Amino acid sequence: MKNILKRFIAVFLPFRCHACSETTDFGVVLCDRCLVKLQGLINSPRRIEDVLCSFPIYTLSSYDSLMSDIIRIVKYRPSLKLLMILAEQCQKRGRLKSLVSADDILVPVPMHSDRLLKRGFNQAELLAEKFAVAAGCRFSPVLERIRATRPQADCDENDRQNNLEGAFAIGRGVIKEMFAGRHLILVDDVVTTGSTLQKCCEALQPLRPAKVSALAVSHSFRRTAGIIPAAV
Ligand SMILES: [Zn+2]
Repeated sequence: MKNILKRFIAVFLPFRCHACSETTDFGVVLCDRCLVKLQGLINSPRRIEDVLCSFPIYTLSSYDSLMSDIIRIVKYRPSLKLLMILAEQCQKRGRLKSLVSADDILVPVPMHSDRLLKRGFNQAELLAEKFAVAAGCRFSPVLERIRATRPQADCDENDRQNNLEGAFAIGRGVIKEMFAGRHLILVDDVVTTGSTLQKCCEALQPLRPAKVSALAVSHSFRRTAGIIPAAV
C-alpha cells in the first residue's frame, strides 16, 4: 500500500534534487549522490588568507561547484530544508571543537528585517545556532543590520565599502558585560572579500571582546558584478 502511494506521488507530484535535478522521493531535496559528495567537501576549520580582514577567518569547505550551488539555492530559492541538511553535515563533519571552545560566543552576521521577511530565515543565524550546539558554546545574535544594503556581489570595488557603511550595530537591550573579554566568532554561510565580516567586527568593538574571528561554511573568490545569478 505504501509503495502504491509512493508511486502515485512520484507520478503526479514529481520531486527533484535541488542541486542536480535527479528525481527523488517526495520531499527529499538532496539526492543520495549529492549528499555523499557534500559530505566529502566538509573538513575541519581551515584559515584562509586572501581576504580583506584584520582578524582570522576560517572555512569548513572549499568553494566546489556543488557547495556554491547549495549555498546559492539555500538563499535564493530559498530552501530551509537544504539549509538544515548543510548545517547538519557541518555539525557532523566540521570538527568545530578544534576551533571553538566552550567559553567562545558565536555571533551570526545579521540580515536586514526586510530581507528576513522575504526569505523567512537568516541562514547565518541558523548555522551559528547549530555550530554552537556542536561546539558546546553559546550563540548570540547580538548584531543588527540597521540599514538595508545591496548584495556585495552586485557592487563594484568602489561601492563595496560605502555599501556597508553604518549597516551594523549592537542590538538594543544587549548586556555588554556578558561579551567583554570573550572570544567572539562571527558566523556566515560564505565569505567573499571579507568586507562584510570586517564591518561586523568593527560593530562588535563596543562590547570590548578579547578577540574576534570568523567562521564561514565556504569561501567564494571575488567575482565581477552580474555573474552571480539573482535567483535560482
Ligand atoms: Zn542530486
